[in-house]
Amino acid sequence: MMRTHYCGQLNETLADQEITLCGWVHRRRDHGGVIFLDIRDREGLAQVVFDPDREETFAKADRVRSEYVVKVTGKVRLRPEGARNPNMASGAIEVLGYQLEVLNQAETPPFPLDEYSDVGEETRLRYRFIDLRRPEMAAKLKLRSRITSSVRRYLDDNGFLDVETPILTRATPEGARDYLVPSRTHAGSFFALPQSPQLFKQLLMVSGFDRYYQIAKCFRDEDLRADRQPEFTQIDIETSFLDEQDIIGLTEGMIRKLFKEVLDVELGDFPHMPFSEAMRRYGSDKPDLRIPLELVDVEDQLKDVDFKVFAGPANDPKCRVAALRVPGGASMPRKQIDDYTKYVGIYGAKGLAYIKVNERAAGVEGLQSPIVKNIPLDNINVILDRVGAVDGDIVFFGADKAKIVSEALGALRIKLGHDLNLLTCEWAPMWVVDFPMFEENDDGSLSALHHPFTAPQCSPEELKANPATALSRAYDMVLNGTELGGGSIRIHRKDMQQAVFDILGISPEEQQEKFGFLLDALKYGAPPHGGLAFGLDRLVMLMTGASSIREVIAFPKTQSAACVMTQAPGLVDNKALRELHIRLREQPKAE
Ligand code: ASP
Repeated sequence: MMRTHYCGQLNETLADQEITLCGWVHRRRDHGGVIFLDIRDREGLAQVVFDPDREETFAKADRVRSEYVVKVTGKVRLRPEGARNPNMASGAIEVLGYQLEVLNQAETPPFPLDEYSDVGEETRLRYRFIDLRRPEMAAKLKLRSRITSSVRRYLDDNGFLDVETPILTRATPEGARDYLVPSRTHAGSFFALPQSPQLFKQLLMVSGFDRYYQIAKCFRDEDLRADRQPEFTQIDIETSFLDEQDIIGLTEGMIRKLFKEVLDVELGDFPHMPFSEAMRRYGSDKPDLRIPLELVDVEDQLKDVDFKVFAGPANDPKCRVAALRVPGGASMPRKQIDDYTKYVGIYGAKGLAYIKVNERAAGVEGLQSPIVKNIPLDNINVILDRVGAVDGDIVFFGADKAKIVSEALGALRIKLGHDLNLLTCEWAPMWVVDFPMFEENDDGSLSALHHPFTAPQCSPEELKANPATALSRAYDMVLNGTELGGGSIRIHRKDMQQAVFDILGISPEEQQEKFGFLLDALKYGAPPHGGLAFGLDRLVMLMTGASSIREVIAFPKTQSAACVMTQAPGLVDNKALRELHIRLREQPKAE
């Protein structure tokens, strides 16, 4: 081994020892006759001083430039009192350099690493191998590794087996588009990359493995809205003979232990909340419980008012009219309300009605609002009482299709929580339970809310009779308004699985063609089983405080699902296409 210590590990206890460092020149400073090199490796920085007494070494130190790879041997010494740097792990010491060897030179890097600079993400991704040298980035990847090892340790200790499942496979439906891989040996046929290991992990339960986990790559070809990646990582878990409470307890224990070990955070209670309550109170199936604002339904007060904007939705069962009280919000300037109106527009809301409660005792006179003249005061008072409005508050309203109102006010709630600094705690974990089995598409057909292998809370007969209202045995873990993981008890009987396929409009032939192997497995002694999967990237993002999952993935794709470093996806030559039995409809333009 060339090095004796990592830079970031040097401290006072090593004073007077001779050590050898290997790393990159982070910064080079010339200080009236002495040269300072800050050497960097993955554990941090160390300051090395070269003085002119050692002529040859000094001359070398004079020639090195940023990002040269060097090996330095020297002696650790305490820095003089005033020269200590509390922001540096090794800031109490420095190294007096005796020998310096340049292991490799470097051209001037495309962006400086030694000072904060606002380099565009495209450039950072193009030179990711340099970007990852930055201490902030290295810290995130190191934390990610500590997270996966904590998780593995917990699962290993609890009797889970790590089993790999195929990447070249058939479609595993999780509601996204598949990435397809053409087969050379089977002309015209395609593999699909797994959207998750779902069916394989279920089959492992049928095989008797009982407790499985895998830190698994999943692939979903979605339009990359928001913060998604075409390939991402799940902590994938499946168990047999446990019910939802067991699985919730086991995995909650894993997350608690993880936060304690890695961040020294004690996560408090994980309240359980039915999906319907989450939607009603927070307008979201992943409520951020750090924010103390709530949506309150008020349609009963607005059914007969002479104001279509409210009366219409209040009388339509597919619609919702809800109020959101913001304590102290009456002082909000007009401009801010306009901005929030624009914001809810993103979610399809056509406006944002409000009442500023200046002085409740003064009746209508005390309310400042474009809508109060349209609503009888008695009804207004019921509404204000219901939301708990007091002088100085503002109450916002949403009236539209239920989905639009929930999404718009739900998002506004979060935005207000951050804008007005209302967060009540740092971490708010919870479980959302009792999800519906299905959601209705625009054409009236049904889709699985979780995936088609999720067990309902009822019998196949009841399910067939009332699919739209049936609840599932699914559960999601939510942290700070982010879905960390989700899972369910699975269907383990063939008749139930077929009932669900029928409801989803999958014909018996198609069932056989696509899921014949699963239906077979369910015939040959499938145990009751269930599990869940955590999104590792999001978990790491939350735990590192990163702003995007791209910041915690070593080599992420851009928003357009490309890798700007390797230039993937790339063109292939005609010979390769021919072998794959593929002819392109258009000749690609050279990029
Ligand atoms: N396969 C599911 C998913 O990827 C998780 C699960 O049900 O275990 O969302």
